[in-house]
Amino acid sequence: ALTAGIVGLPNVGKSTLFNAITKAGAESANYPFCTIDPNVGIVEVPDERLQKLTELVVPKKTVPTAFEFTDIAGIVKGASKGEGLGNKFLAHIREVDAICQVVRCFADDNITHVSGKVDPIDDIEVINLELILADLESVDKRLQRVAKMAKSKDKDAMQEEPVLTKLKETLENGKPARAADLSDDEVKITKNFHLLTSKPMLYVANVSEDEIADYSSNEYVQQVQNFAKEDNAEVIVVCAKIEEEMAELDDEEKAMFLDELGIKESGLDQLIKATYQLLGLSTYFTAGVQEVRAWTFRKGMKAPQCAGVIHTDFERGFIRAETVSYEDLVANGSMTAAKEAGKVRLEGKEYIVQDGDVMLFRFNV
Ligand code: GDP
Repeated sequence: ALTAGIVGLPNVGKSTLFNAITKAGAESANYPFCTIDPNVGIVEVPDERLQKLTELVVPKKTVPTAFEFTDIAGIVKGASKGEGLGNKFLAHIREVDAICQVVRCFADDNITHVSGKVDPIDDIEVINLELILADLESVDKRLQRVAKMAKSKDKDAMQEEPVLTKLKETLENGKPARAADLSDDEVKITKNFHLLTSKPMLYVANVSEDEIADYSSNEYVQQVQNFAKEDNAEVIVVCAKIEEEMAELDDEEKAMFLDELGIKESGLDQLIKATYQLLGLSTYFTAGVQEVRAWTFRKGMKAPQCAGVIHTDFERGFIRAETVSYEDLVANGSMTAAKEAGKVRLEGKEYIVQDGDVMLFRFNV
């Protein structure tokens, strides 16, 4: 399963945010594929469409889809040189598929900041630099090896060498690998290198409780937003402390609490949605009277593979899938009506599943 890692300097609010995630906790019984590990929190993906489908079908049970966040504690300056828990930390980042970097944007004199003052850009640069240095070392090593092999006309090496050279230049300029100007083919080659700075990143600006409703005058947030624009990254503004409190509430209480604060959607919900996007994930639905459920697939996956998300037997014995888009189903009011309107398609093995498809799989056992 794909997972996103939460990183950040000490005292920026990572643990608080991670607590909110685990407390909001999805029931792991519903998600047998998820890891059971104290550093992994399972989150359910909020999706208004699932509510709508539930109203339409009135099933016995509704199950959202879920994915994992991993808490990666312990980055400090010098991590790429193996200081402190540095190496272990980088190894953990290597295992995640996207990075959420928590940045301290709240001033609180009682809480020390590792470098003595609140300076989000400085914080971001400390972390990004460690990742860049670690990548530079891997790229350098590989380039030395590959350059030799390219001389003796090794085909793979000859393809890799120019890509590595470009990456080296980018990293030496203090930029992440994802910022390198690469063609699609070159990006594919880069995947072999497992670089930390190739992973998609988003920034989580952690603001104080009295600023969450209106953070327009928080300069730190503006700085992070400007920085992220350059990095082509998204910024989600949260108040980790409030999220932690809210995680204990049921849906109704949560809605009231948000209303009181004057907030439309909780920061955590926004973070979950944005991270799901960042991981390149999409959702399809099954909608039977027993269960209405959202399922996660990777963009570009075909119908049999998507069926395999439910059960491997579904993939092996796949025949076809009755498919209707969420919009068409809702517009027609029921599966029967959608069928009569000719909106239900029979899709085969080559069908590329779309976000929001409502599917019924036919398969041999
Ligand atoms: P970590 O070291 O990054 O995991 O940071 P923690 O989550 O332990 O937070 C460090 C301190 O900052 C704790 O005392 C938290 O209570 C406090 N803190 C975290 N988030 C917020 C916030 O949104 N507002 C305020 N005022 N304090 C916060």
